[in-house]
Amino acid sequence: MKAEIIAVGTELLLGQIVNTNAQTLSVKLAELGIDVYFQSVVGDNPGRLREAIEIGRKRADLLVFTGGLGPTQDDLTKEVLAQYLNRSLIIHEPSMDKIKALFSERGTHMVESNRKQAIMLEASEPLHNNAGLAVGVGVVQDGTAYLLLPGPPRELKAMLASSADQWLRQQIGNVKPLYSRILKFAGIGESNLEDQLLDLIEQQQETTLAPYAKEGEVALRVSVKAESEAIAEQKINAAVIQIKERVGHHLYAEQDIPIEVTIHQLLRSSRRTLASAESCTGGLFAELITSVPGSSGEFKGGVVTYTNEMKHQLLGIPLSMLEGDGAAGAVSEQTARLMADNMRQIANTDFAVSFTGVAGPGTAEGKPVGLVYIALAQREKDTAVYELKLGGDREMIRLRAVKAAQYRLWQ
Ligand code: ATP
Ligand code: MG
Repeated sequence: MKAEIIAVGTELLLGQIVNTNAQTLSVKLAELGIDVYFQSVVGDNPGRLREAIEIGRKRADLLVFTGGLGPTQDDLTKEVLAQYLNRSLIIHEPSMDKIKALFSERGTHMVESNRKQAIMLEASEPLHNNAGLAVGVGVVQDGTAYLLLPGPPRELKAMLASSADQWLRQQIGNVKPLYSRILKFAGIGESNLEDQLLDLIEQQQETTLAPYAKEGEVALRVSVKAESEAIAEQKINAAVIQIKERVGHHLYAEQDIPIEVTIHQLLRSSRRTLASAESCTGGLFAELITSVPGSSGEFKGGVVTYTNEMKHQLLGIPLSMLEGDGAAGAVSEQTARLMADNMRQIANTDFAVSFTGVAGPGTAEGKPVGLVYIALAQREKDTAVYELKLGGDREMIRLRAVKAAQYRLWQ
């Protein structure tokens, strides 16, 4: 079954609100095994809405509308579809009773326009809205199914969990649902990951692999349509075995969690502790690790030493290393190494990571934007320093530096 989502509302076109309903609907339809081929947005304009319906009908079997079921003048989704399908509009009495009851409860007078929220197309199925007043509508004509849902996200979600869910399941009959697992990778870019899995991606039939980048991390969605969850599990497991053979050393989780969660679990289970000394990342490493509940068990703390003065005073980095003729400079392998070593000793931890680099937009010490040194100090082991040449804007460089250090720590 091919679907198109049509979000109705001029405020969406003006950029005043974000079309989160399209995302909610896409996730829901994918779960049900319905393929979403198109998402459109159209304003509160009868002519253009009609045009959207005409186009949608040609390329999809199911059109899901969101928005325009309310009481105001510009809410006209039901009216336009009724006209398009040559059906009249009728009052759904139970909804009308609900609206009347609500107004009398509040002691206010119901205005005529509120009747609109109780209308439906003749010979259609009313879909109960347990979070609002406007009744939803499901209707099938000439092989196309139309589902009309309200715009407020809370109402939409409530209906997708109840009345609209039931109606959609009736429409799809015995289409197999889609099951997915998210694999998360570190230390590898999206295109590199895709490259290493290219033949698997290209020959995929039942099981589909889709890599995507998200907040400095790379994810791979492994999906399969199957009769049952058990069968899907088997098929996904088989695909994961193949994936692990290629890129298993970058795979840190078989669920959609950030790497700091995995690091937290590893440190906790091995009873190791961690500290951080940050310059160009401004505390982002500490921010991410402490966003994991319970991280105080292993993360002892960190410092942000942004200036040379603070690197000297708090971490004991010699000024002669940081500045002056012939000095290595703050952005250097030596400084990164000493920041990590000294931090580890000060905090008395098993690990310490450090960051020093040029996040941009301007260069520093004559060094290019994106040059970052990270160091990982470990008890009774040599300290490792990594030179990174990172792309992106300031925010991206900082995030990528932190992700690179997290990857080294996880390894
Ligand atoms: P109402 O009864 O509230 O008028 P409605 O079904 O007529 O509901 P709209 O008038 O189109 O829906 O939208 C109501 C509100 O719902 C919008 O102001 C907006 O806050 C939110 N909304 C509408 N469409 C979307 C969307 N596609 N994504 C996210 N939010 C939306
Ligand atoms: Mg409205």
